[in-house]
Parts: sequence; C-alpha cells; structure tokens
Amino acid sequence: MAKKIVAGNWKMNKTYEEALALVSEVVNMVKDEVTGDVRVILFPPALYVSTLRSYVKDAPAISLGVQNIYQKASGAYTGEISAPMVKSLGIQYVLVGHSERREYFDETNEVLAEKVNIALENGLTPVFCCGESLQQRQNEDYKGFVKNQLTESLFHLGPEEIQKVVIAYEPIWAIGTGLTASAEQAQEMHKALRDHLSEKYGSPIASGISILYGGSVGAGNAAELFAGPDVDGGLVGGASLKSRDFTEIIKAR
Ligand code: PEP
Repeated sequence: MAKKIVAGNWKMNKTYEEALALVSEVVNMVKDEVTGDVRVILFPPALYVSTLRSYVKDAPAISLGVQNIYQKASGAYTGEISAPMVKSLGIQYVLVGHSERREYFDETNEVLAEKVNIALENGLTPVFCCGESLQQRQNEDYKGFVKNQLTESLFHLGPEEIQKVVIAYEPIWAIGTGLTASAEQAQEMHKALRDHLSEKYGSPIASGISILYGGSVGAGNAAELFAGPDVDGGLVGGASLKSRDFTEIIKAR
C-alpha cells in the first residue's frame, strides 16, 4: 500500500516571522487534531528549513523538504543548493520538476532525471512533479504527455530506486488558478500513471508508490479529490499558507 501524504508547497512566500508563526500553528493543529498514519511534508523556502527543524521535531507526523536542488553535488554554481547540503541538515524530501521550475527555469526532463539521481544518491526522497498544460489537455494526447515525463525522468531507475520516489500529478491549468481537476479527472490520470509504472516495474511496486494530486486543493474539495483509489494524497500550494485550511486538508486524507 502506498503511503498517505499531504504536502504543503509554500513557494516564495512568507517572511521569517510569518514562517515561524505558520509552522507553529500547523505543528499544534496537527498534534491536536490529526490521527492516523498520514505523513505531512512542509516545503518552506530553503532559507528557513534549518530553523524550522526544531519546530517540527516533536511532531513525528511532520517532515520538512526543500523546493529544489541543483543537479551537481558542489562547485561554482552561485545561488544554488545541493543534495549533500540538504542531507547534511537531516532534511528528507525535495520537490523535483514543479511546473514553475519547468516553465520559469527551463528545467527539462533530462535535467530532472539528473536531479532525481543526485537526490537518491544522497538518500533524499524526490517528490517528482508532472502534469499537462491546458492546451495539451485540449489538443493532444495529454495522458501520453504526462506518462512521457515519467519515462524520461524516472524510468532509468531500477526497481529498488523507483520505490523511493513520490509522484505528484499537477495539471498546470489547475495550479494557483482556482480551477481543479474533477475527482474523476484526477483518478483517471493517477490510474494511467500507476498502470504506466506497473508496465515497467510490475504491479506490486507500482501499487506501493505514492501518487499525490496537486492543483487548487482546498479544505472544501480535498475529501472528494482524495477519494479516488489511486489518489494517495495531495501537494498543496496556496491553501498550505493557511494553517486552518491546510489542517482540514490533512484531516480529509
Ligand atoms: C502547487 O504549487 O504545487 C500547487 C498545487 O499550488 P495550488 O494548490 O495553489 O494550486
């Protein structure tokens, strides 16, 4: 069985004081209200993760991650952060291939394969994001497009390694737009991705890989979206910046 996960991507939001307040609220609400075995992952700006470690240390359900790493281990890459640096802080998770990174920073499937590799080499868990644009959904073989993102960035991995990856399906047209995939659309794509994984790695491995849905998940629609049998949780942007909404989403999982 795939792990249930709800992750919050804070993107480039929150000052230091605001970040401390938000993490404190989330920690308290999760401790008081969340039961069950859901893993909560917070992706704050990387600048804050070191400090935030002490805030989450008494909340075993909550882990931290970074929103990006560079594909090299060290060197003259001004402004970047590396997988060994993240590992050295004891941080477990890294987002790889968020659509904003693909769009604004020209991250290709090939570069993302390198990021997945260096994450795994350093014992980090990549949360690999994939998803189609609105135009692709309307005009093209959108399932084929998203499956190809997995093929080109993940399918070089062996059976041991692929099991260490989390996948987040995030239709670009639903990110930050208020538009959400319907529960049927989410389940359809999640099943297509799991079948694709199964064809390559076999069904027992595919069924153990967590596939999260992302795209305008909120307190009001989370339960319906998470009801799909292949939807193992969510990657949440905007609503993860509000502790009450984010906690309700976690409870819906
Ligand atoms: C995201 O950035 O991963 C995301 C899903 O954003 P939002 O929930 O705001 O659509």
